[in-house]
Amino acid sequence: MTSAVCPVCGGGLAIPGTGRRPVYCGKPCRQAAHRARQAAARMADHAGWLRQELAGVGARGQQTGLERDFHQVVNAMLAALARIHDYPRPTGDRVPSGWEPEVIRAADSVRRMAGRAFDLAGAHARAAGDFTAANAVFRRAPAPDPDDDETAPGFVAARGAGDRATEHAGRGESGN
Ligand SMILES: [Zn+2]
Repeated sequence: MTSAVCPVCGGGLAIPGTGRRPVYCGKPCRQAAHRARQAAARMADHAGWLRQELAGVGARGQQTGLERDFHQVVNAMLAALARIHDYPRPTGDRVPSGWEPEVIRAADSVRRMAGRAFDLAGAHARAAGDFTAANAVFRRAPAPDPDDDETAPGFVAARGAGDRATEHAGRGESGN
């Protein structure tokens, strides 16, 4: 026997003598849990996308996203800076120039890409926080027993125990 408390409100659960053990104390907590899981799933998806944009892994295990692009842009920046050494140093009567456009172009790419990394990482931090906040509706982990609490209450009530084989058939995020 596991602790018979609602994982959302912490209230006691009425355990019927026969049939399924309820997971939640009632409809409000079941719906709150459903919404929280949906929100958490959205945030997890979003975080996954953001991370892939930053430091993705392709189908063949290769680098994708900003991490890959940054290599090119930073290498171009370093090459542009290295080219400055080809020009003599400024003296009293001469200021060799001409290297600036390449440095400016490369620096602009680095700046834009750095801005994108800044935005993506910040958005990921927010998504991770929102994920944690969504899960905070659960005061405690649900009892490790039934897992189809998204099922319509009438269906749960009408069904007896022992038909676990069909339990997962119609499972899915079908609103609340
Ligand atoms: Zn409850």
